[in-house]
Amino acid sequence: MRHRSLARSAAFFLAAAPFVAASLCAQQTDLVAVYKDIHQHPELSHHEERTSAIVAAALRQAGYTVTDHIGVYPDGTHAFGVVGVMKNGAGPTLLVRADMDALPIIEETGLPYASHVMTKTKSGQDTGVMHACAHDVHTTVLIGTARAMAANRATWHGTLMLVGQPSEETIDGAKAMLADHLYERFGRPDRIIGLHDINTLAAGTVGVIAGPAMASSTSVDVLIQGIGGHGAQPQLGRDPVTLAALFITQIQTIVSREEDPQNPTVVTVGDIHGGTKRNIIPDEVKLELTTRSFTDKSRQTVLDGLRAMAAGITTSAALPPEKAAKVTVLEDESAPVQVNDPALSEQVRGTLIAALGASNVIDMGRLMGSEDVGVFGLADHSIPVVYFRLGAMDPAKLAAAQAAGQQLPGMHTSHFEPLPAPTIATGVKAMTAVATSLLQ
Ligand SMILES: [Zn+2]
Ligand SMILES: [Zn+2]
Repeated sequence: MRHRSLARSAAFFLAAAPFVAASLCAQQTDLVAVYKDIHQHPELSHHEERTSAIVAAALRQAGYTVTDHIGVYPDGTHAFGVVGVMKNGAGPTLLVRADMDALPIIEETGLPYASHVMTKTKSGQDTGVMHACAHDVHTTVLIGTARAMAANRATWHGTLMLVGQPSEETIDGAKAMLADHLYERFGRPDRIIGLHDINTLAAGTVGVIAGPAMASSTSVDVLIQGIGGHGAQPQLGRDPVTLAALFITQIQTIVSREEDPQNPTVVTVGDIHGGTKRNIIPDEVKLELTTRSFTDKSRQTVLDGLRAMAAGITTSAALPPEKAAKVTVLEDESAPVQVNDPALSEQVRGTLIAALGASNVIDMGRLMGSEDVGVFGLADHSIPVVYFRLGAMDPAKLAAAQAAGQQLPGMHTSHFEPLPAPTIATGVKAMTAVATSLLQ
């Protein structure tokens, strides 16, 4: 299956762009090696030092003018953003973006090139590090695209700006790069494209949607306070663990009772910490939430609900005002709705159909996942952005799962397993075709 799909890719390129085909075939083995290396050495958001160095070196070797260590976070620390620029005569400027960070997950794929990297979370818990969102695929595709576009310089005009973005998973990487004067230093792009792998499409295919494509994401911290004491004498304190349990149960009604059922919304508590020992009632419990929505009104409904229910928890426990539950919205770790420019989406769809064949270009529905790629398009959407999906699953395994009415393990899970060679080959082919068509 893999060989047939690669042969099909190669056949198209021999017909459409011989130079690119030869270069891609020669690169393919090397790109899979690059991918496996990055996969085995994943780095969490804000820590992409090694990965960014690989990207910078590869772009330099391909002939780009490269600047690294781009980006500054609100606390003043520097980010590991990379920009590679190739000027190729008069014409538009296109920004191609790939994210580079991994996730705090212990990989359980059992693959020979699985990650065994361990680290600690912010709260000191042991965790693995895994490219469970396949940003290693995106990074590898960026390197492959860089090489193909450099080799294929006679077929396009303008300026190609390749961006290796840090900290997508914490939603502050794109902002950090803009805060470091990305456009003032390297020029303002006319258009922006990017891709993201997906577990519901087979390797060899891509997915496109015009308009709102991915939900906004708002990160929220909640501190539930109580009055600690001996576990055997709960009546002498106020147990924040019980209060947190009540709060978590109650906030489920924001989506089901507060929001219009027509508006998709999500409230998830992904992290909860409180206590040190079974027989000690702690003083506080900390919760980390993510919320998703497609409109400002829905987002506000969720935030209002969280604040009201947090206040209600404090009242119900008769806690003094200084022990009130605290709701903190982390604007720096929040992302707007990702909107694909409608006209540009149609142009990209046409190019992808010409490159991959109509049956390999799938119409996508919108997703509750979030992205900060849209931040590069600026708050007023003045720079059109298109972000398309890259099929990453073994076609045979995907077909078997679908026949059984199941899904293959998805992004952000320990068993997520992209099929490297055909996924990367299709990604490079798709991105190169789109970049070439937009640089005319
Ligand atoms: Zn992710
Ligand atoms: Zn991702």
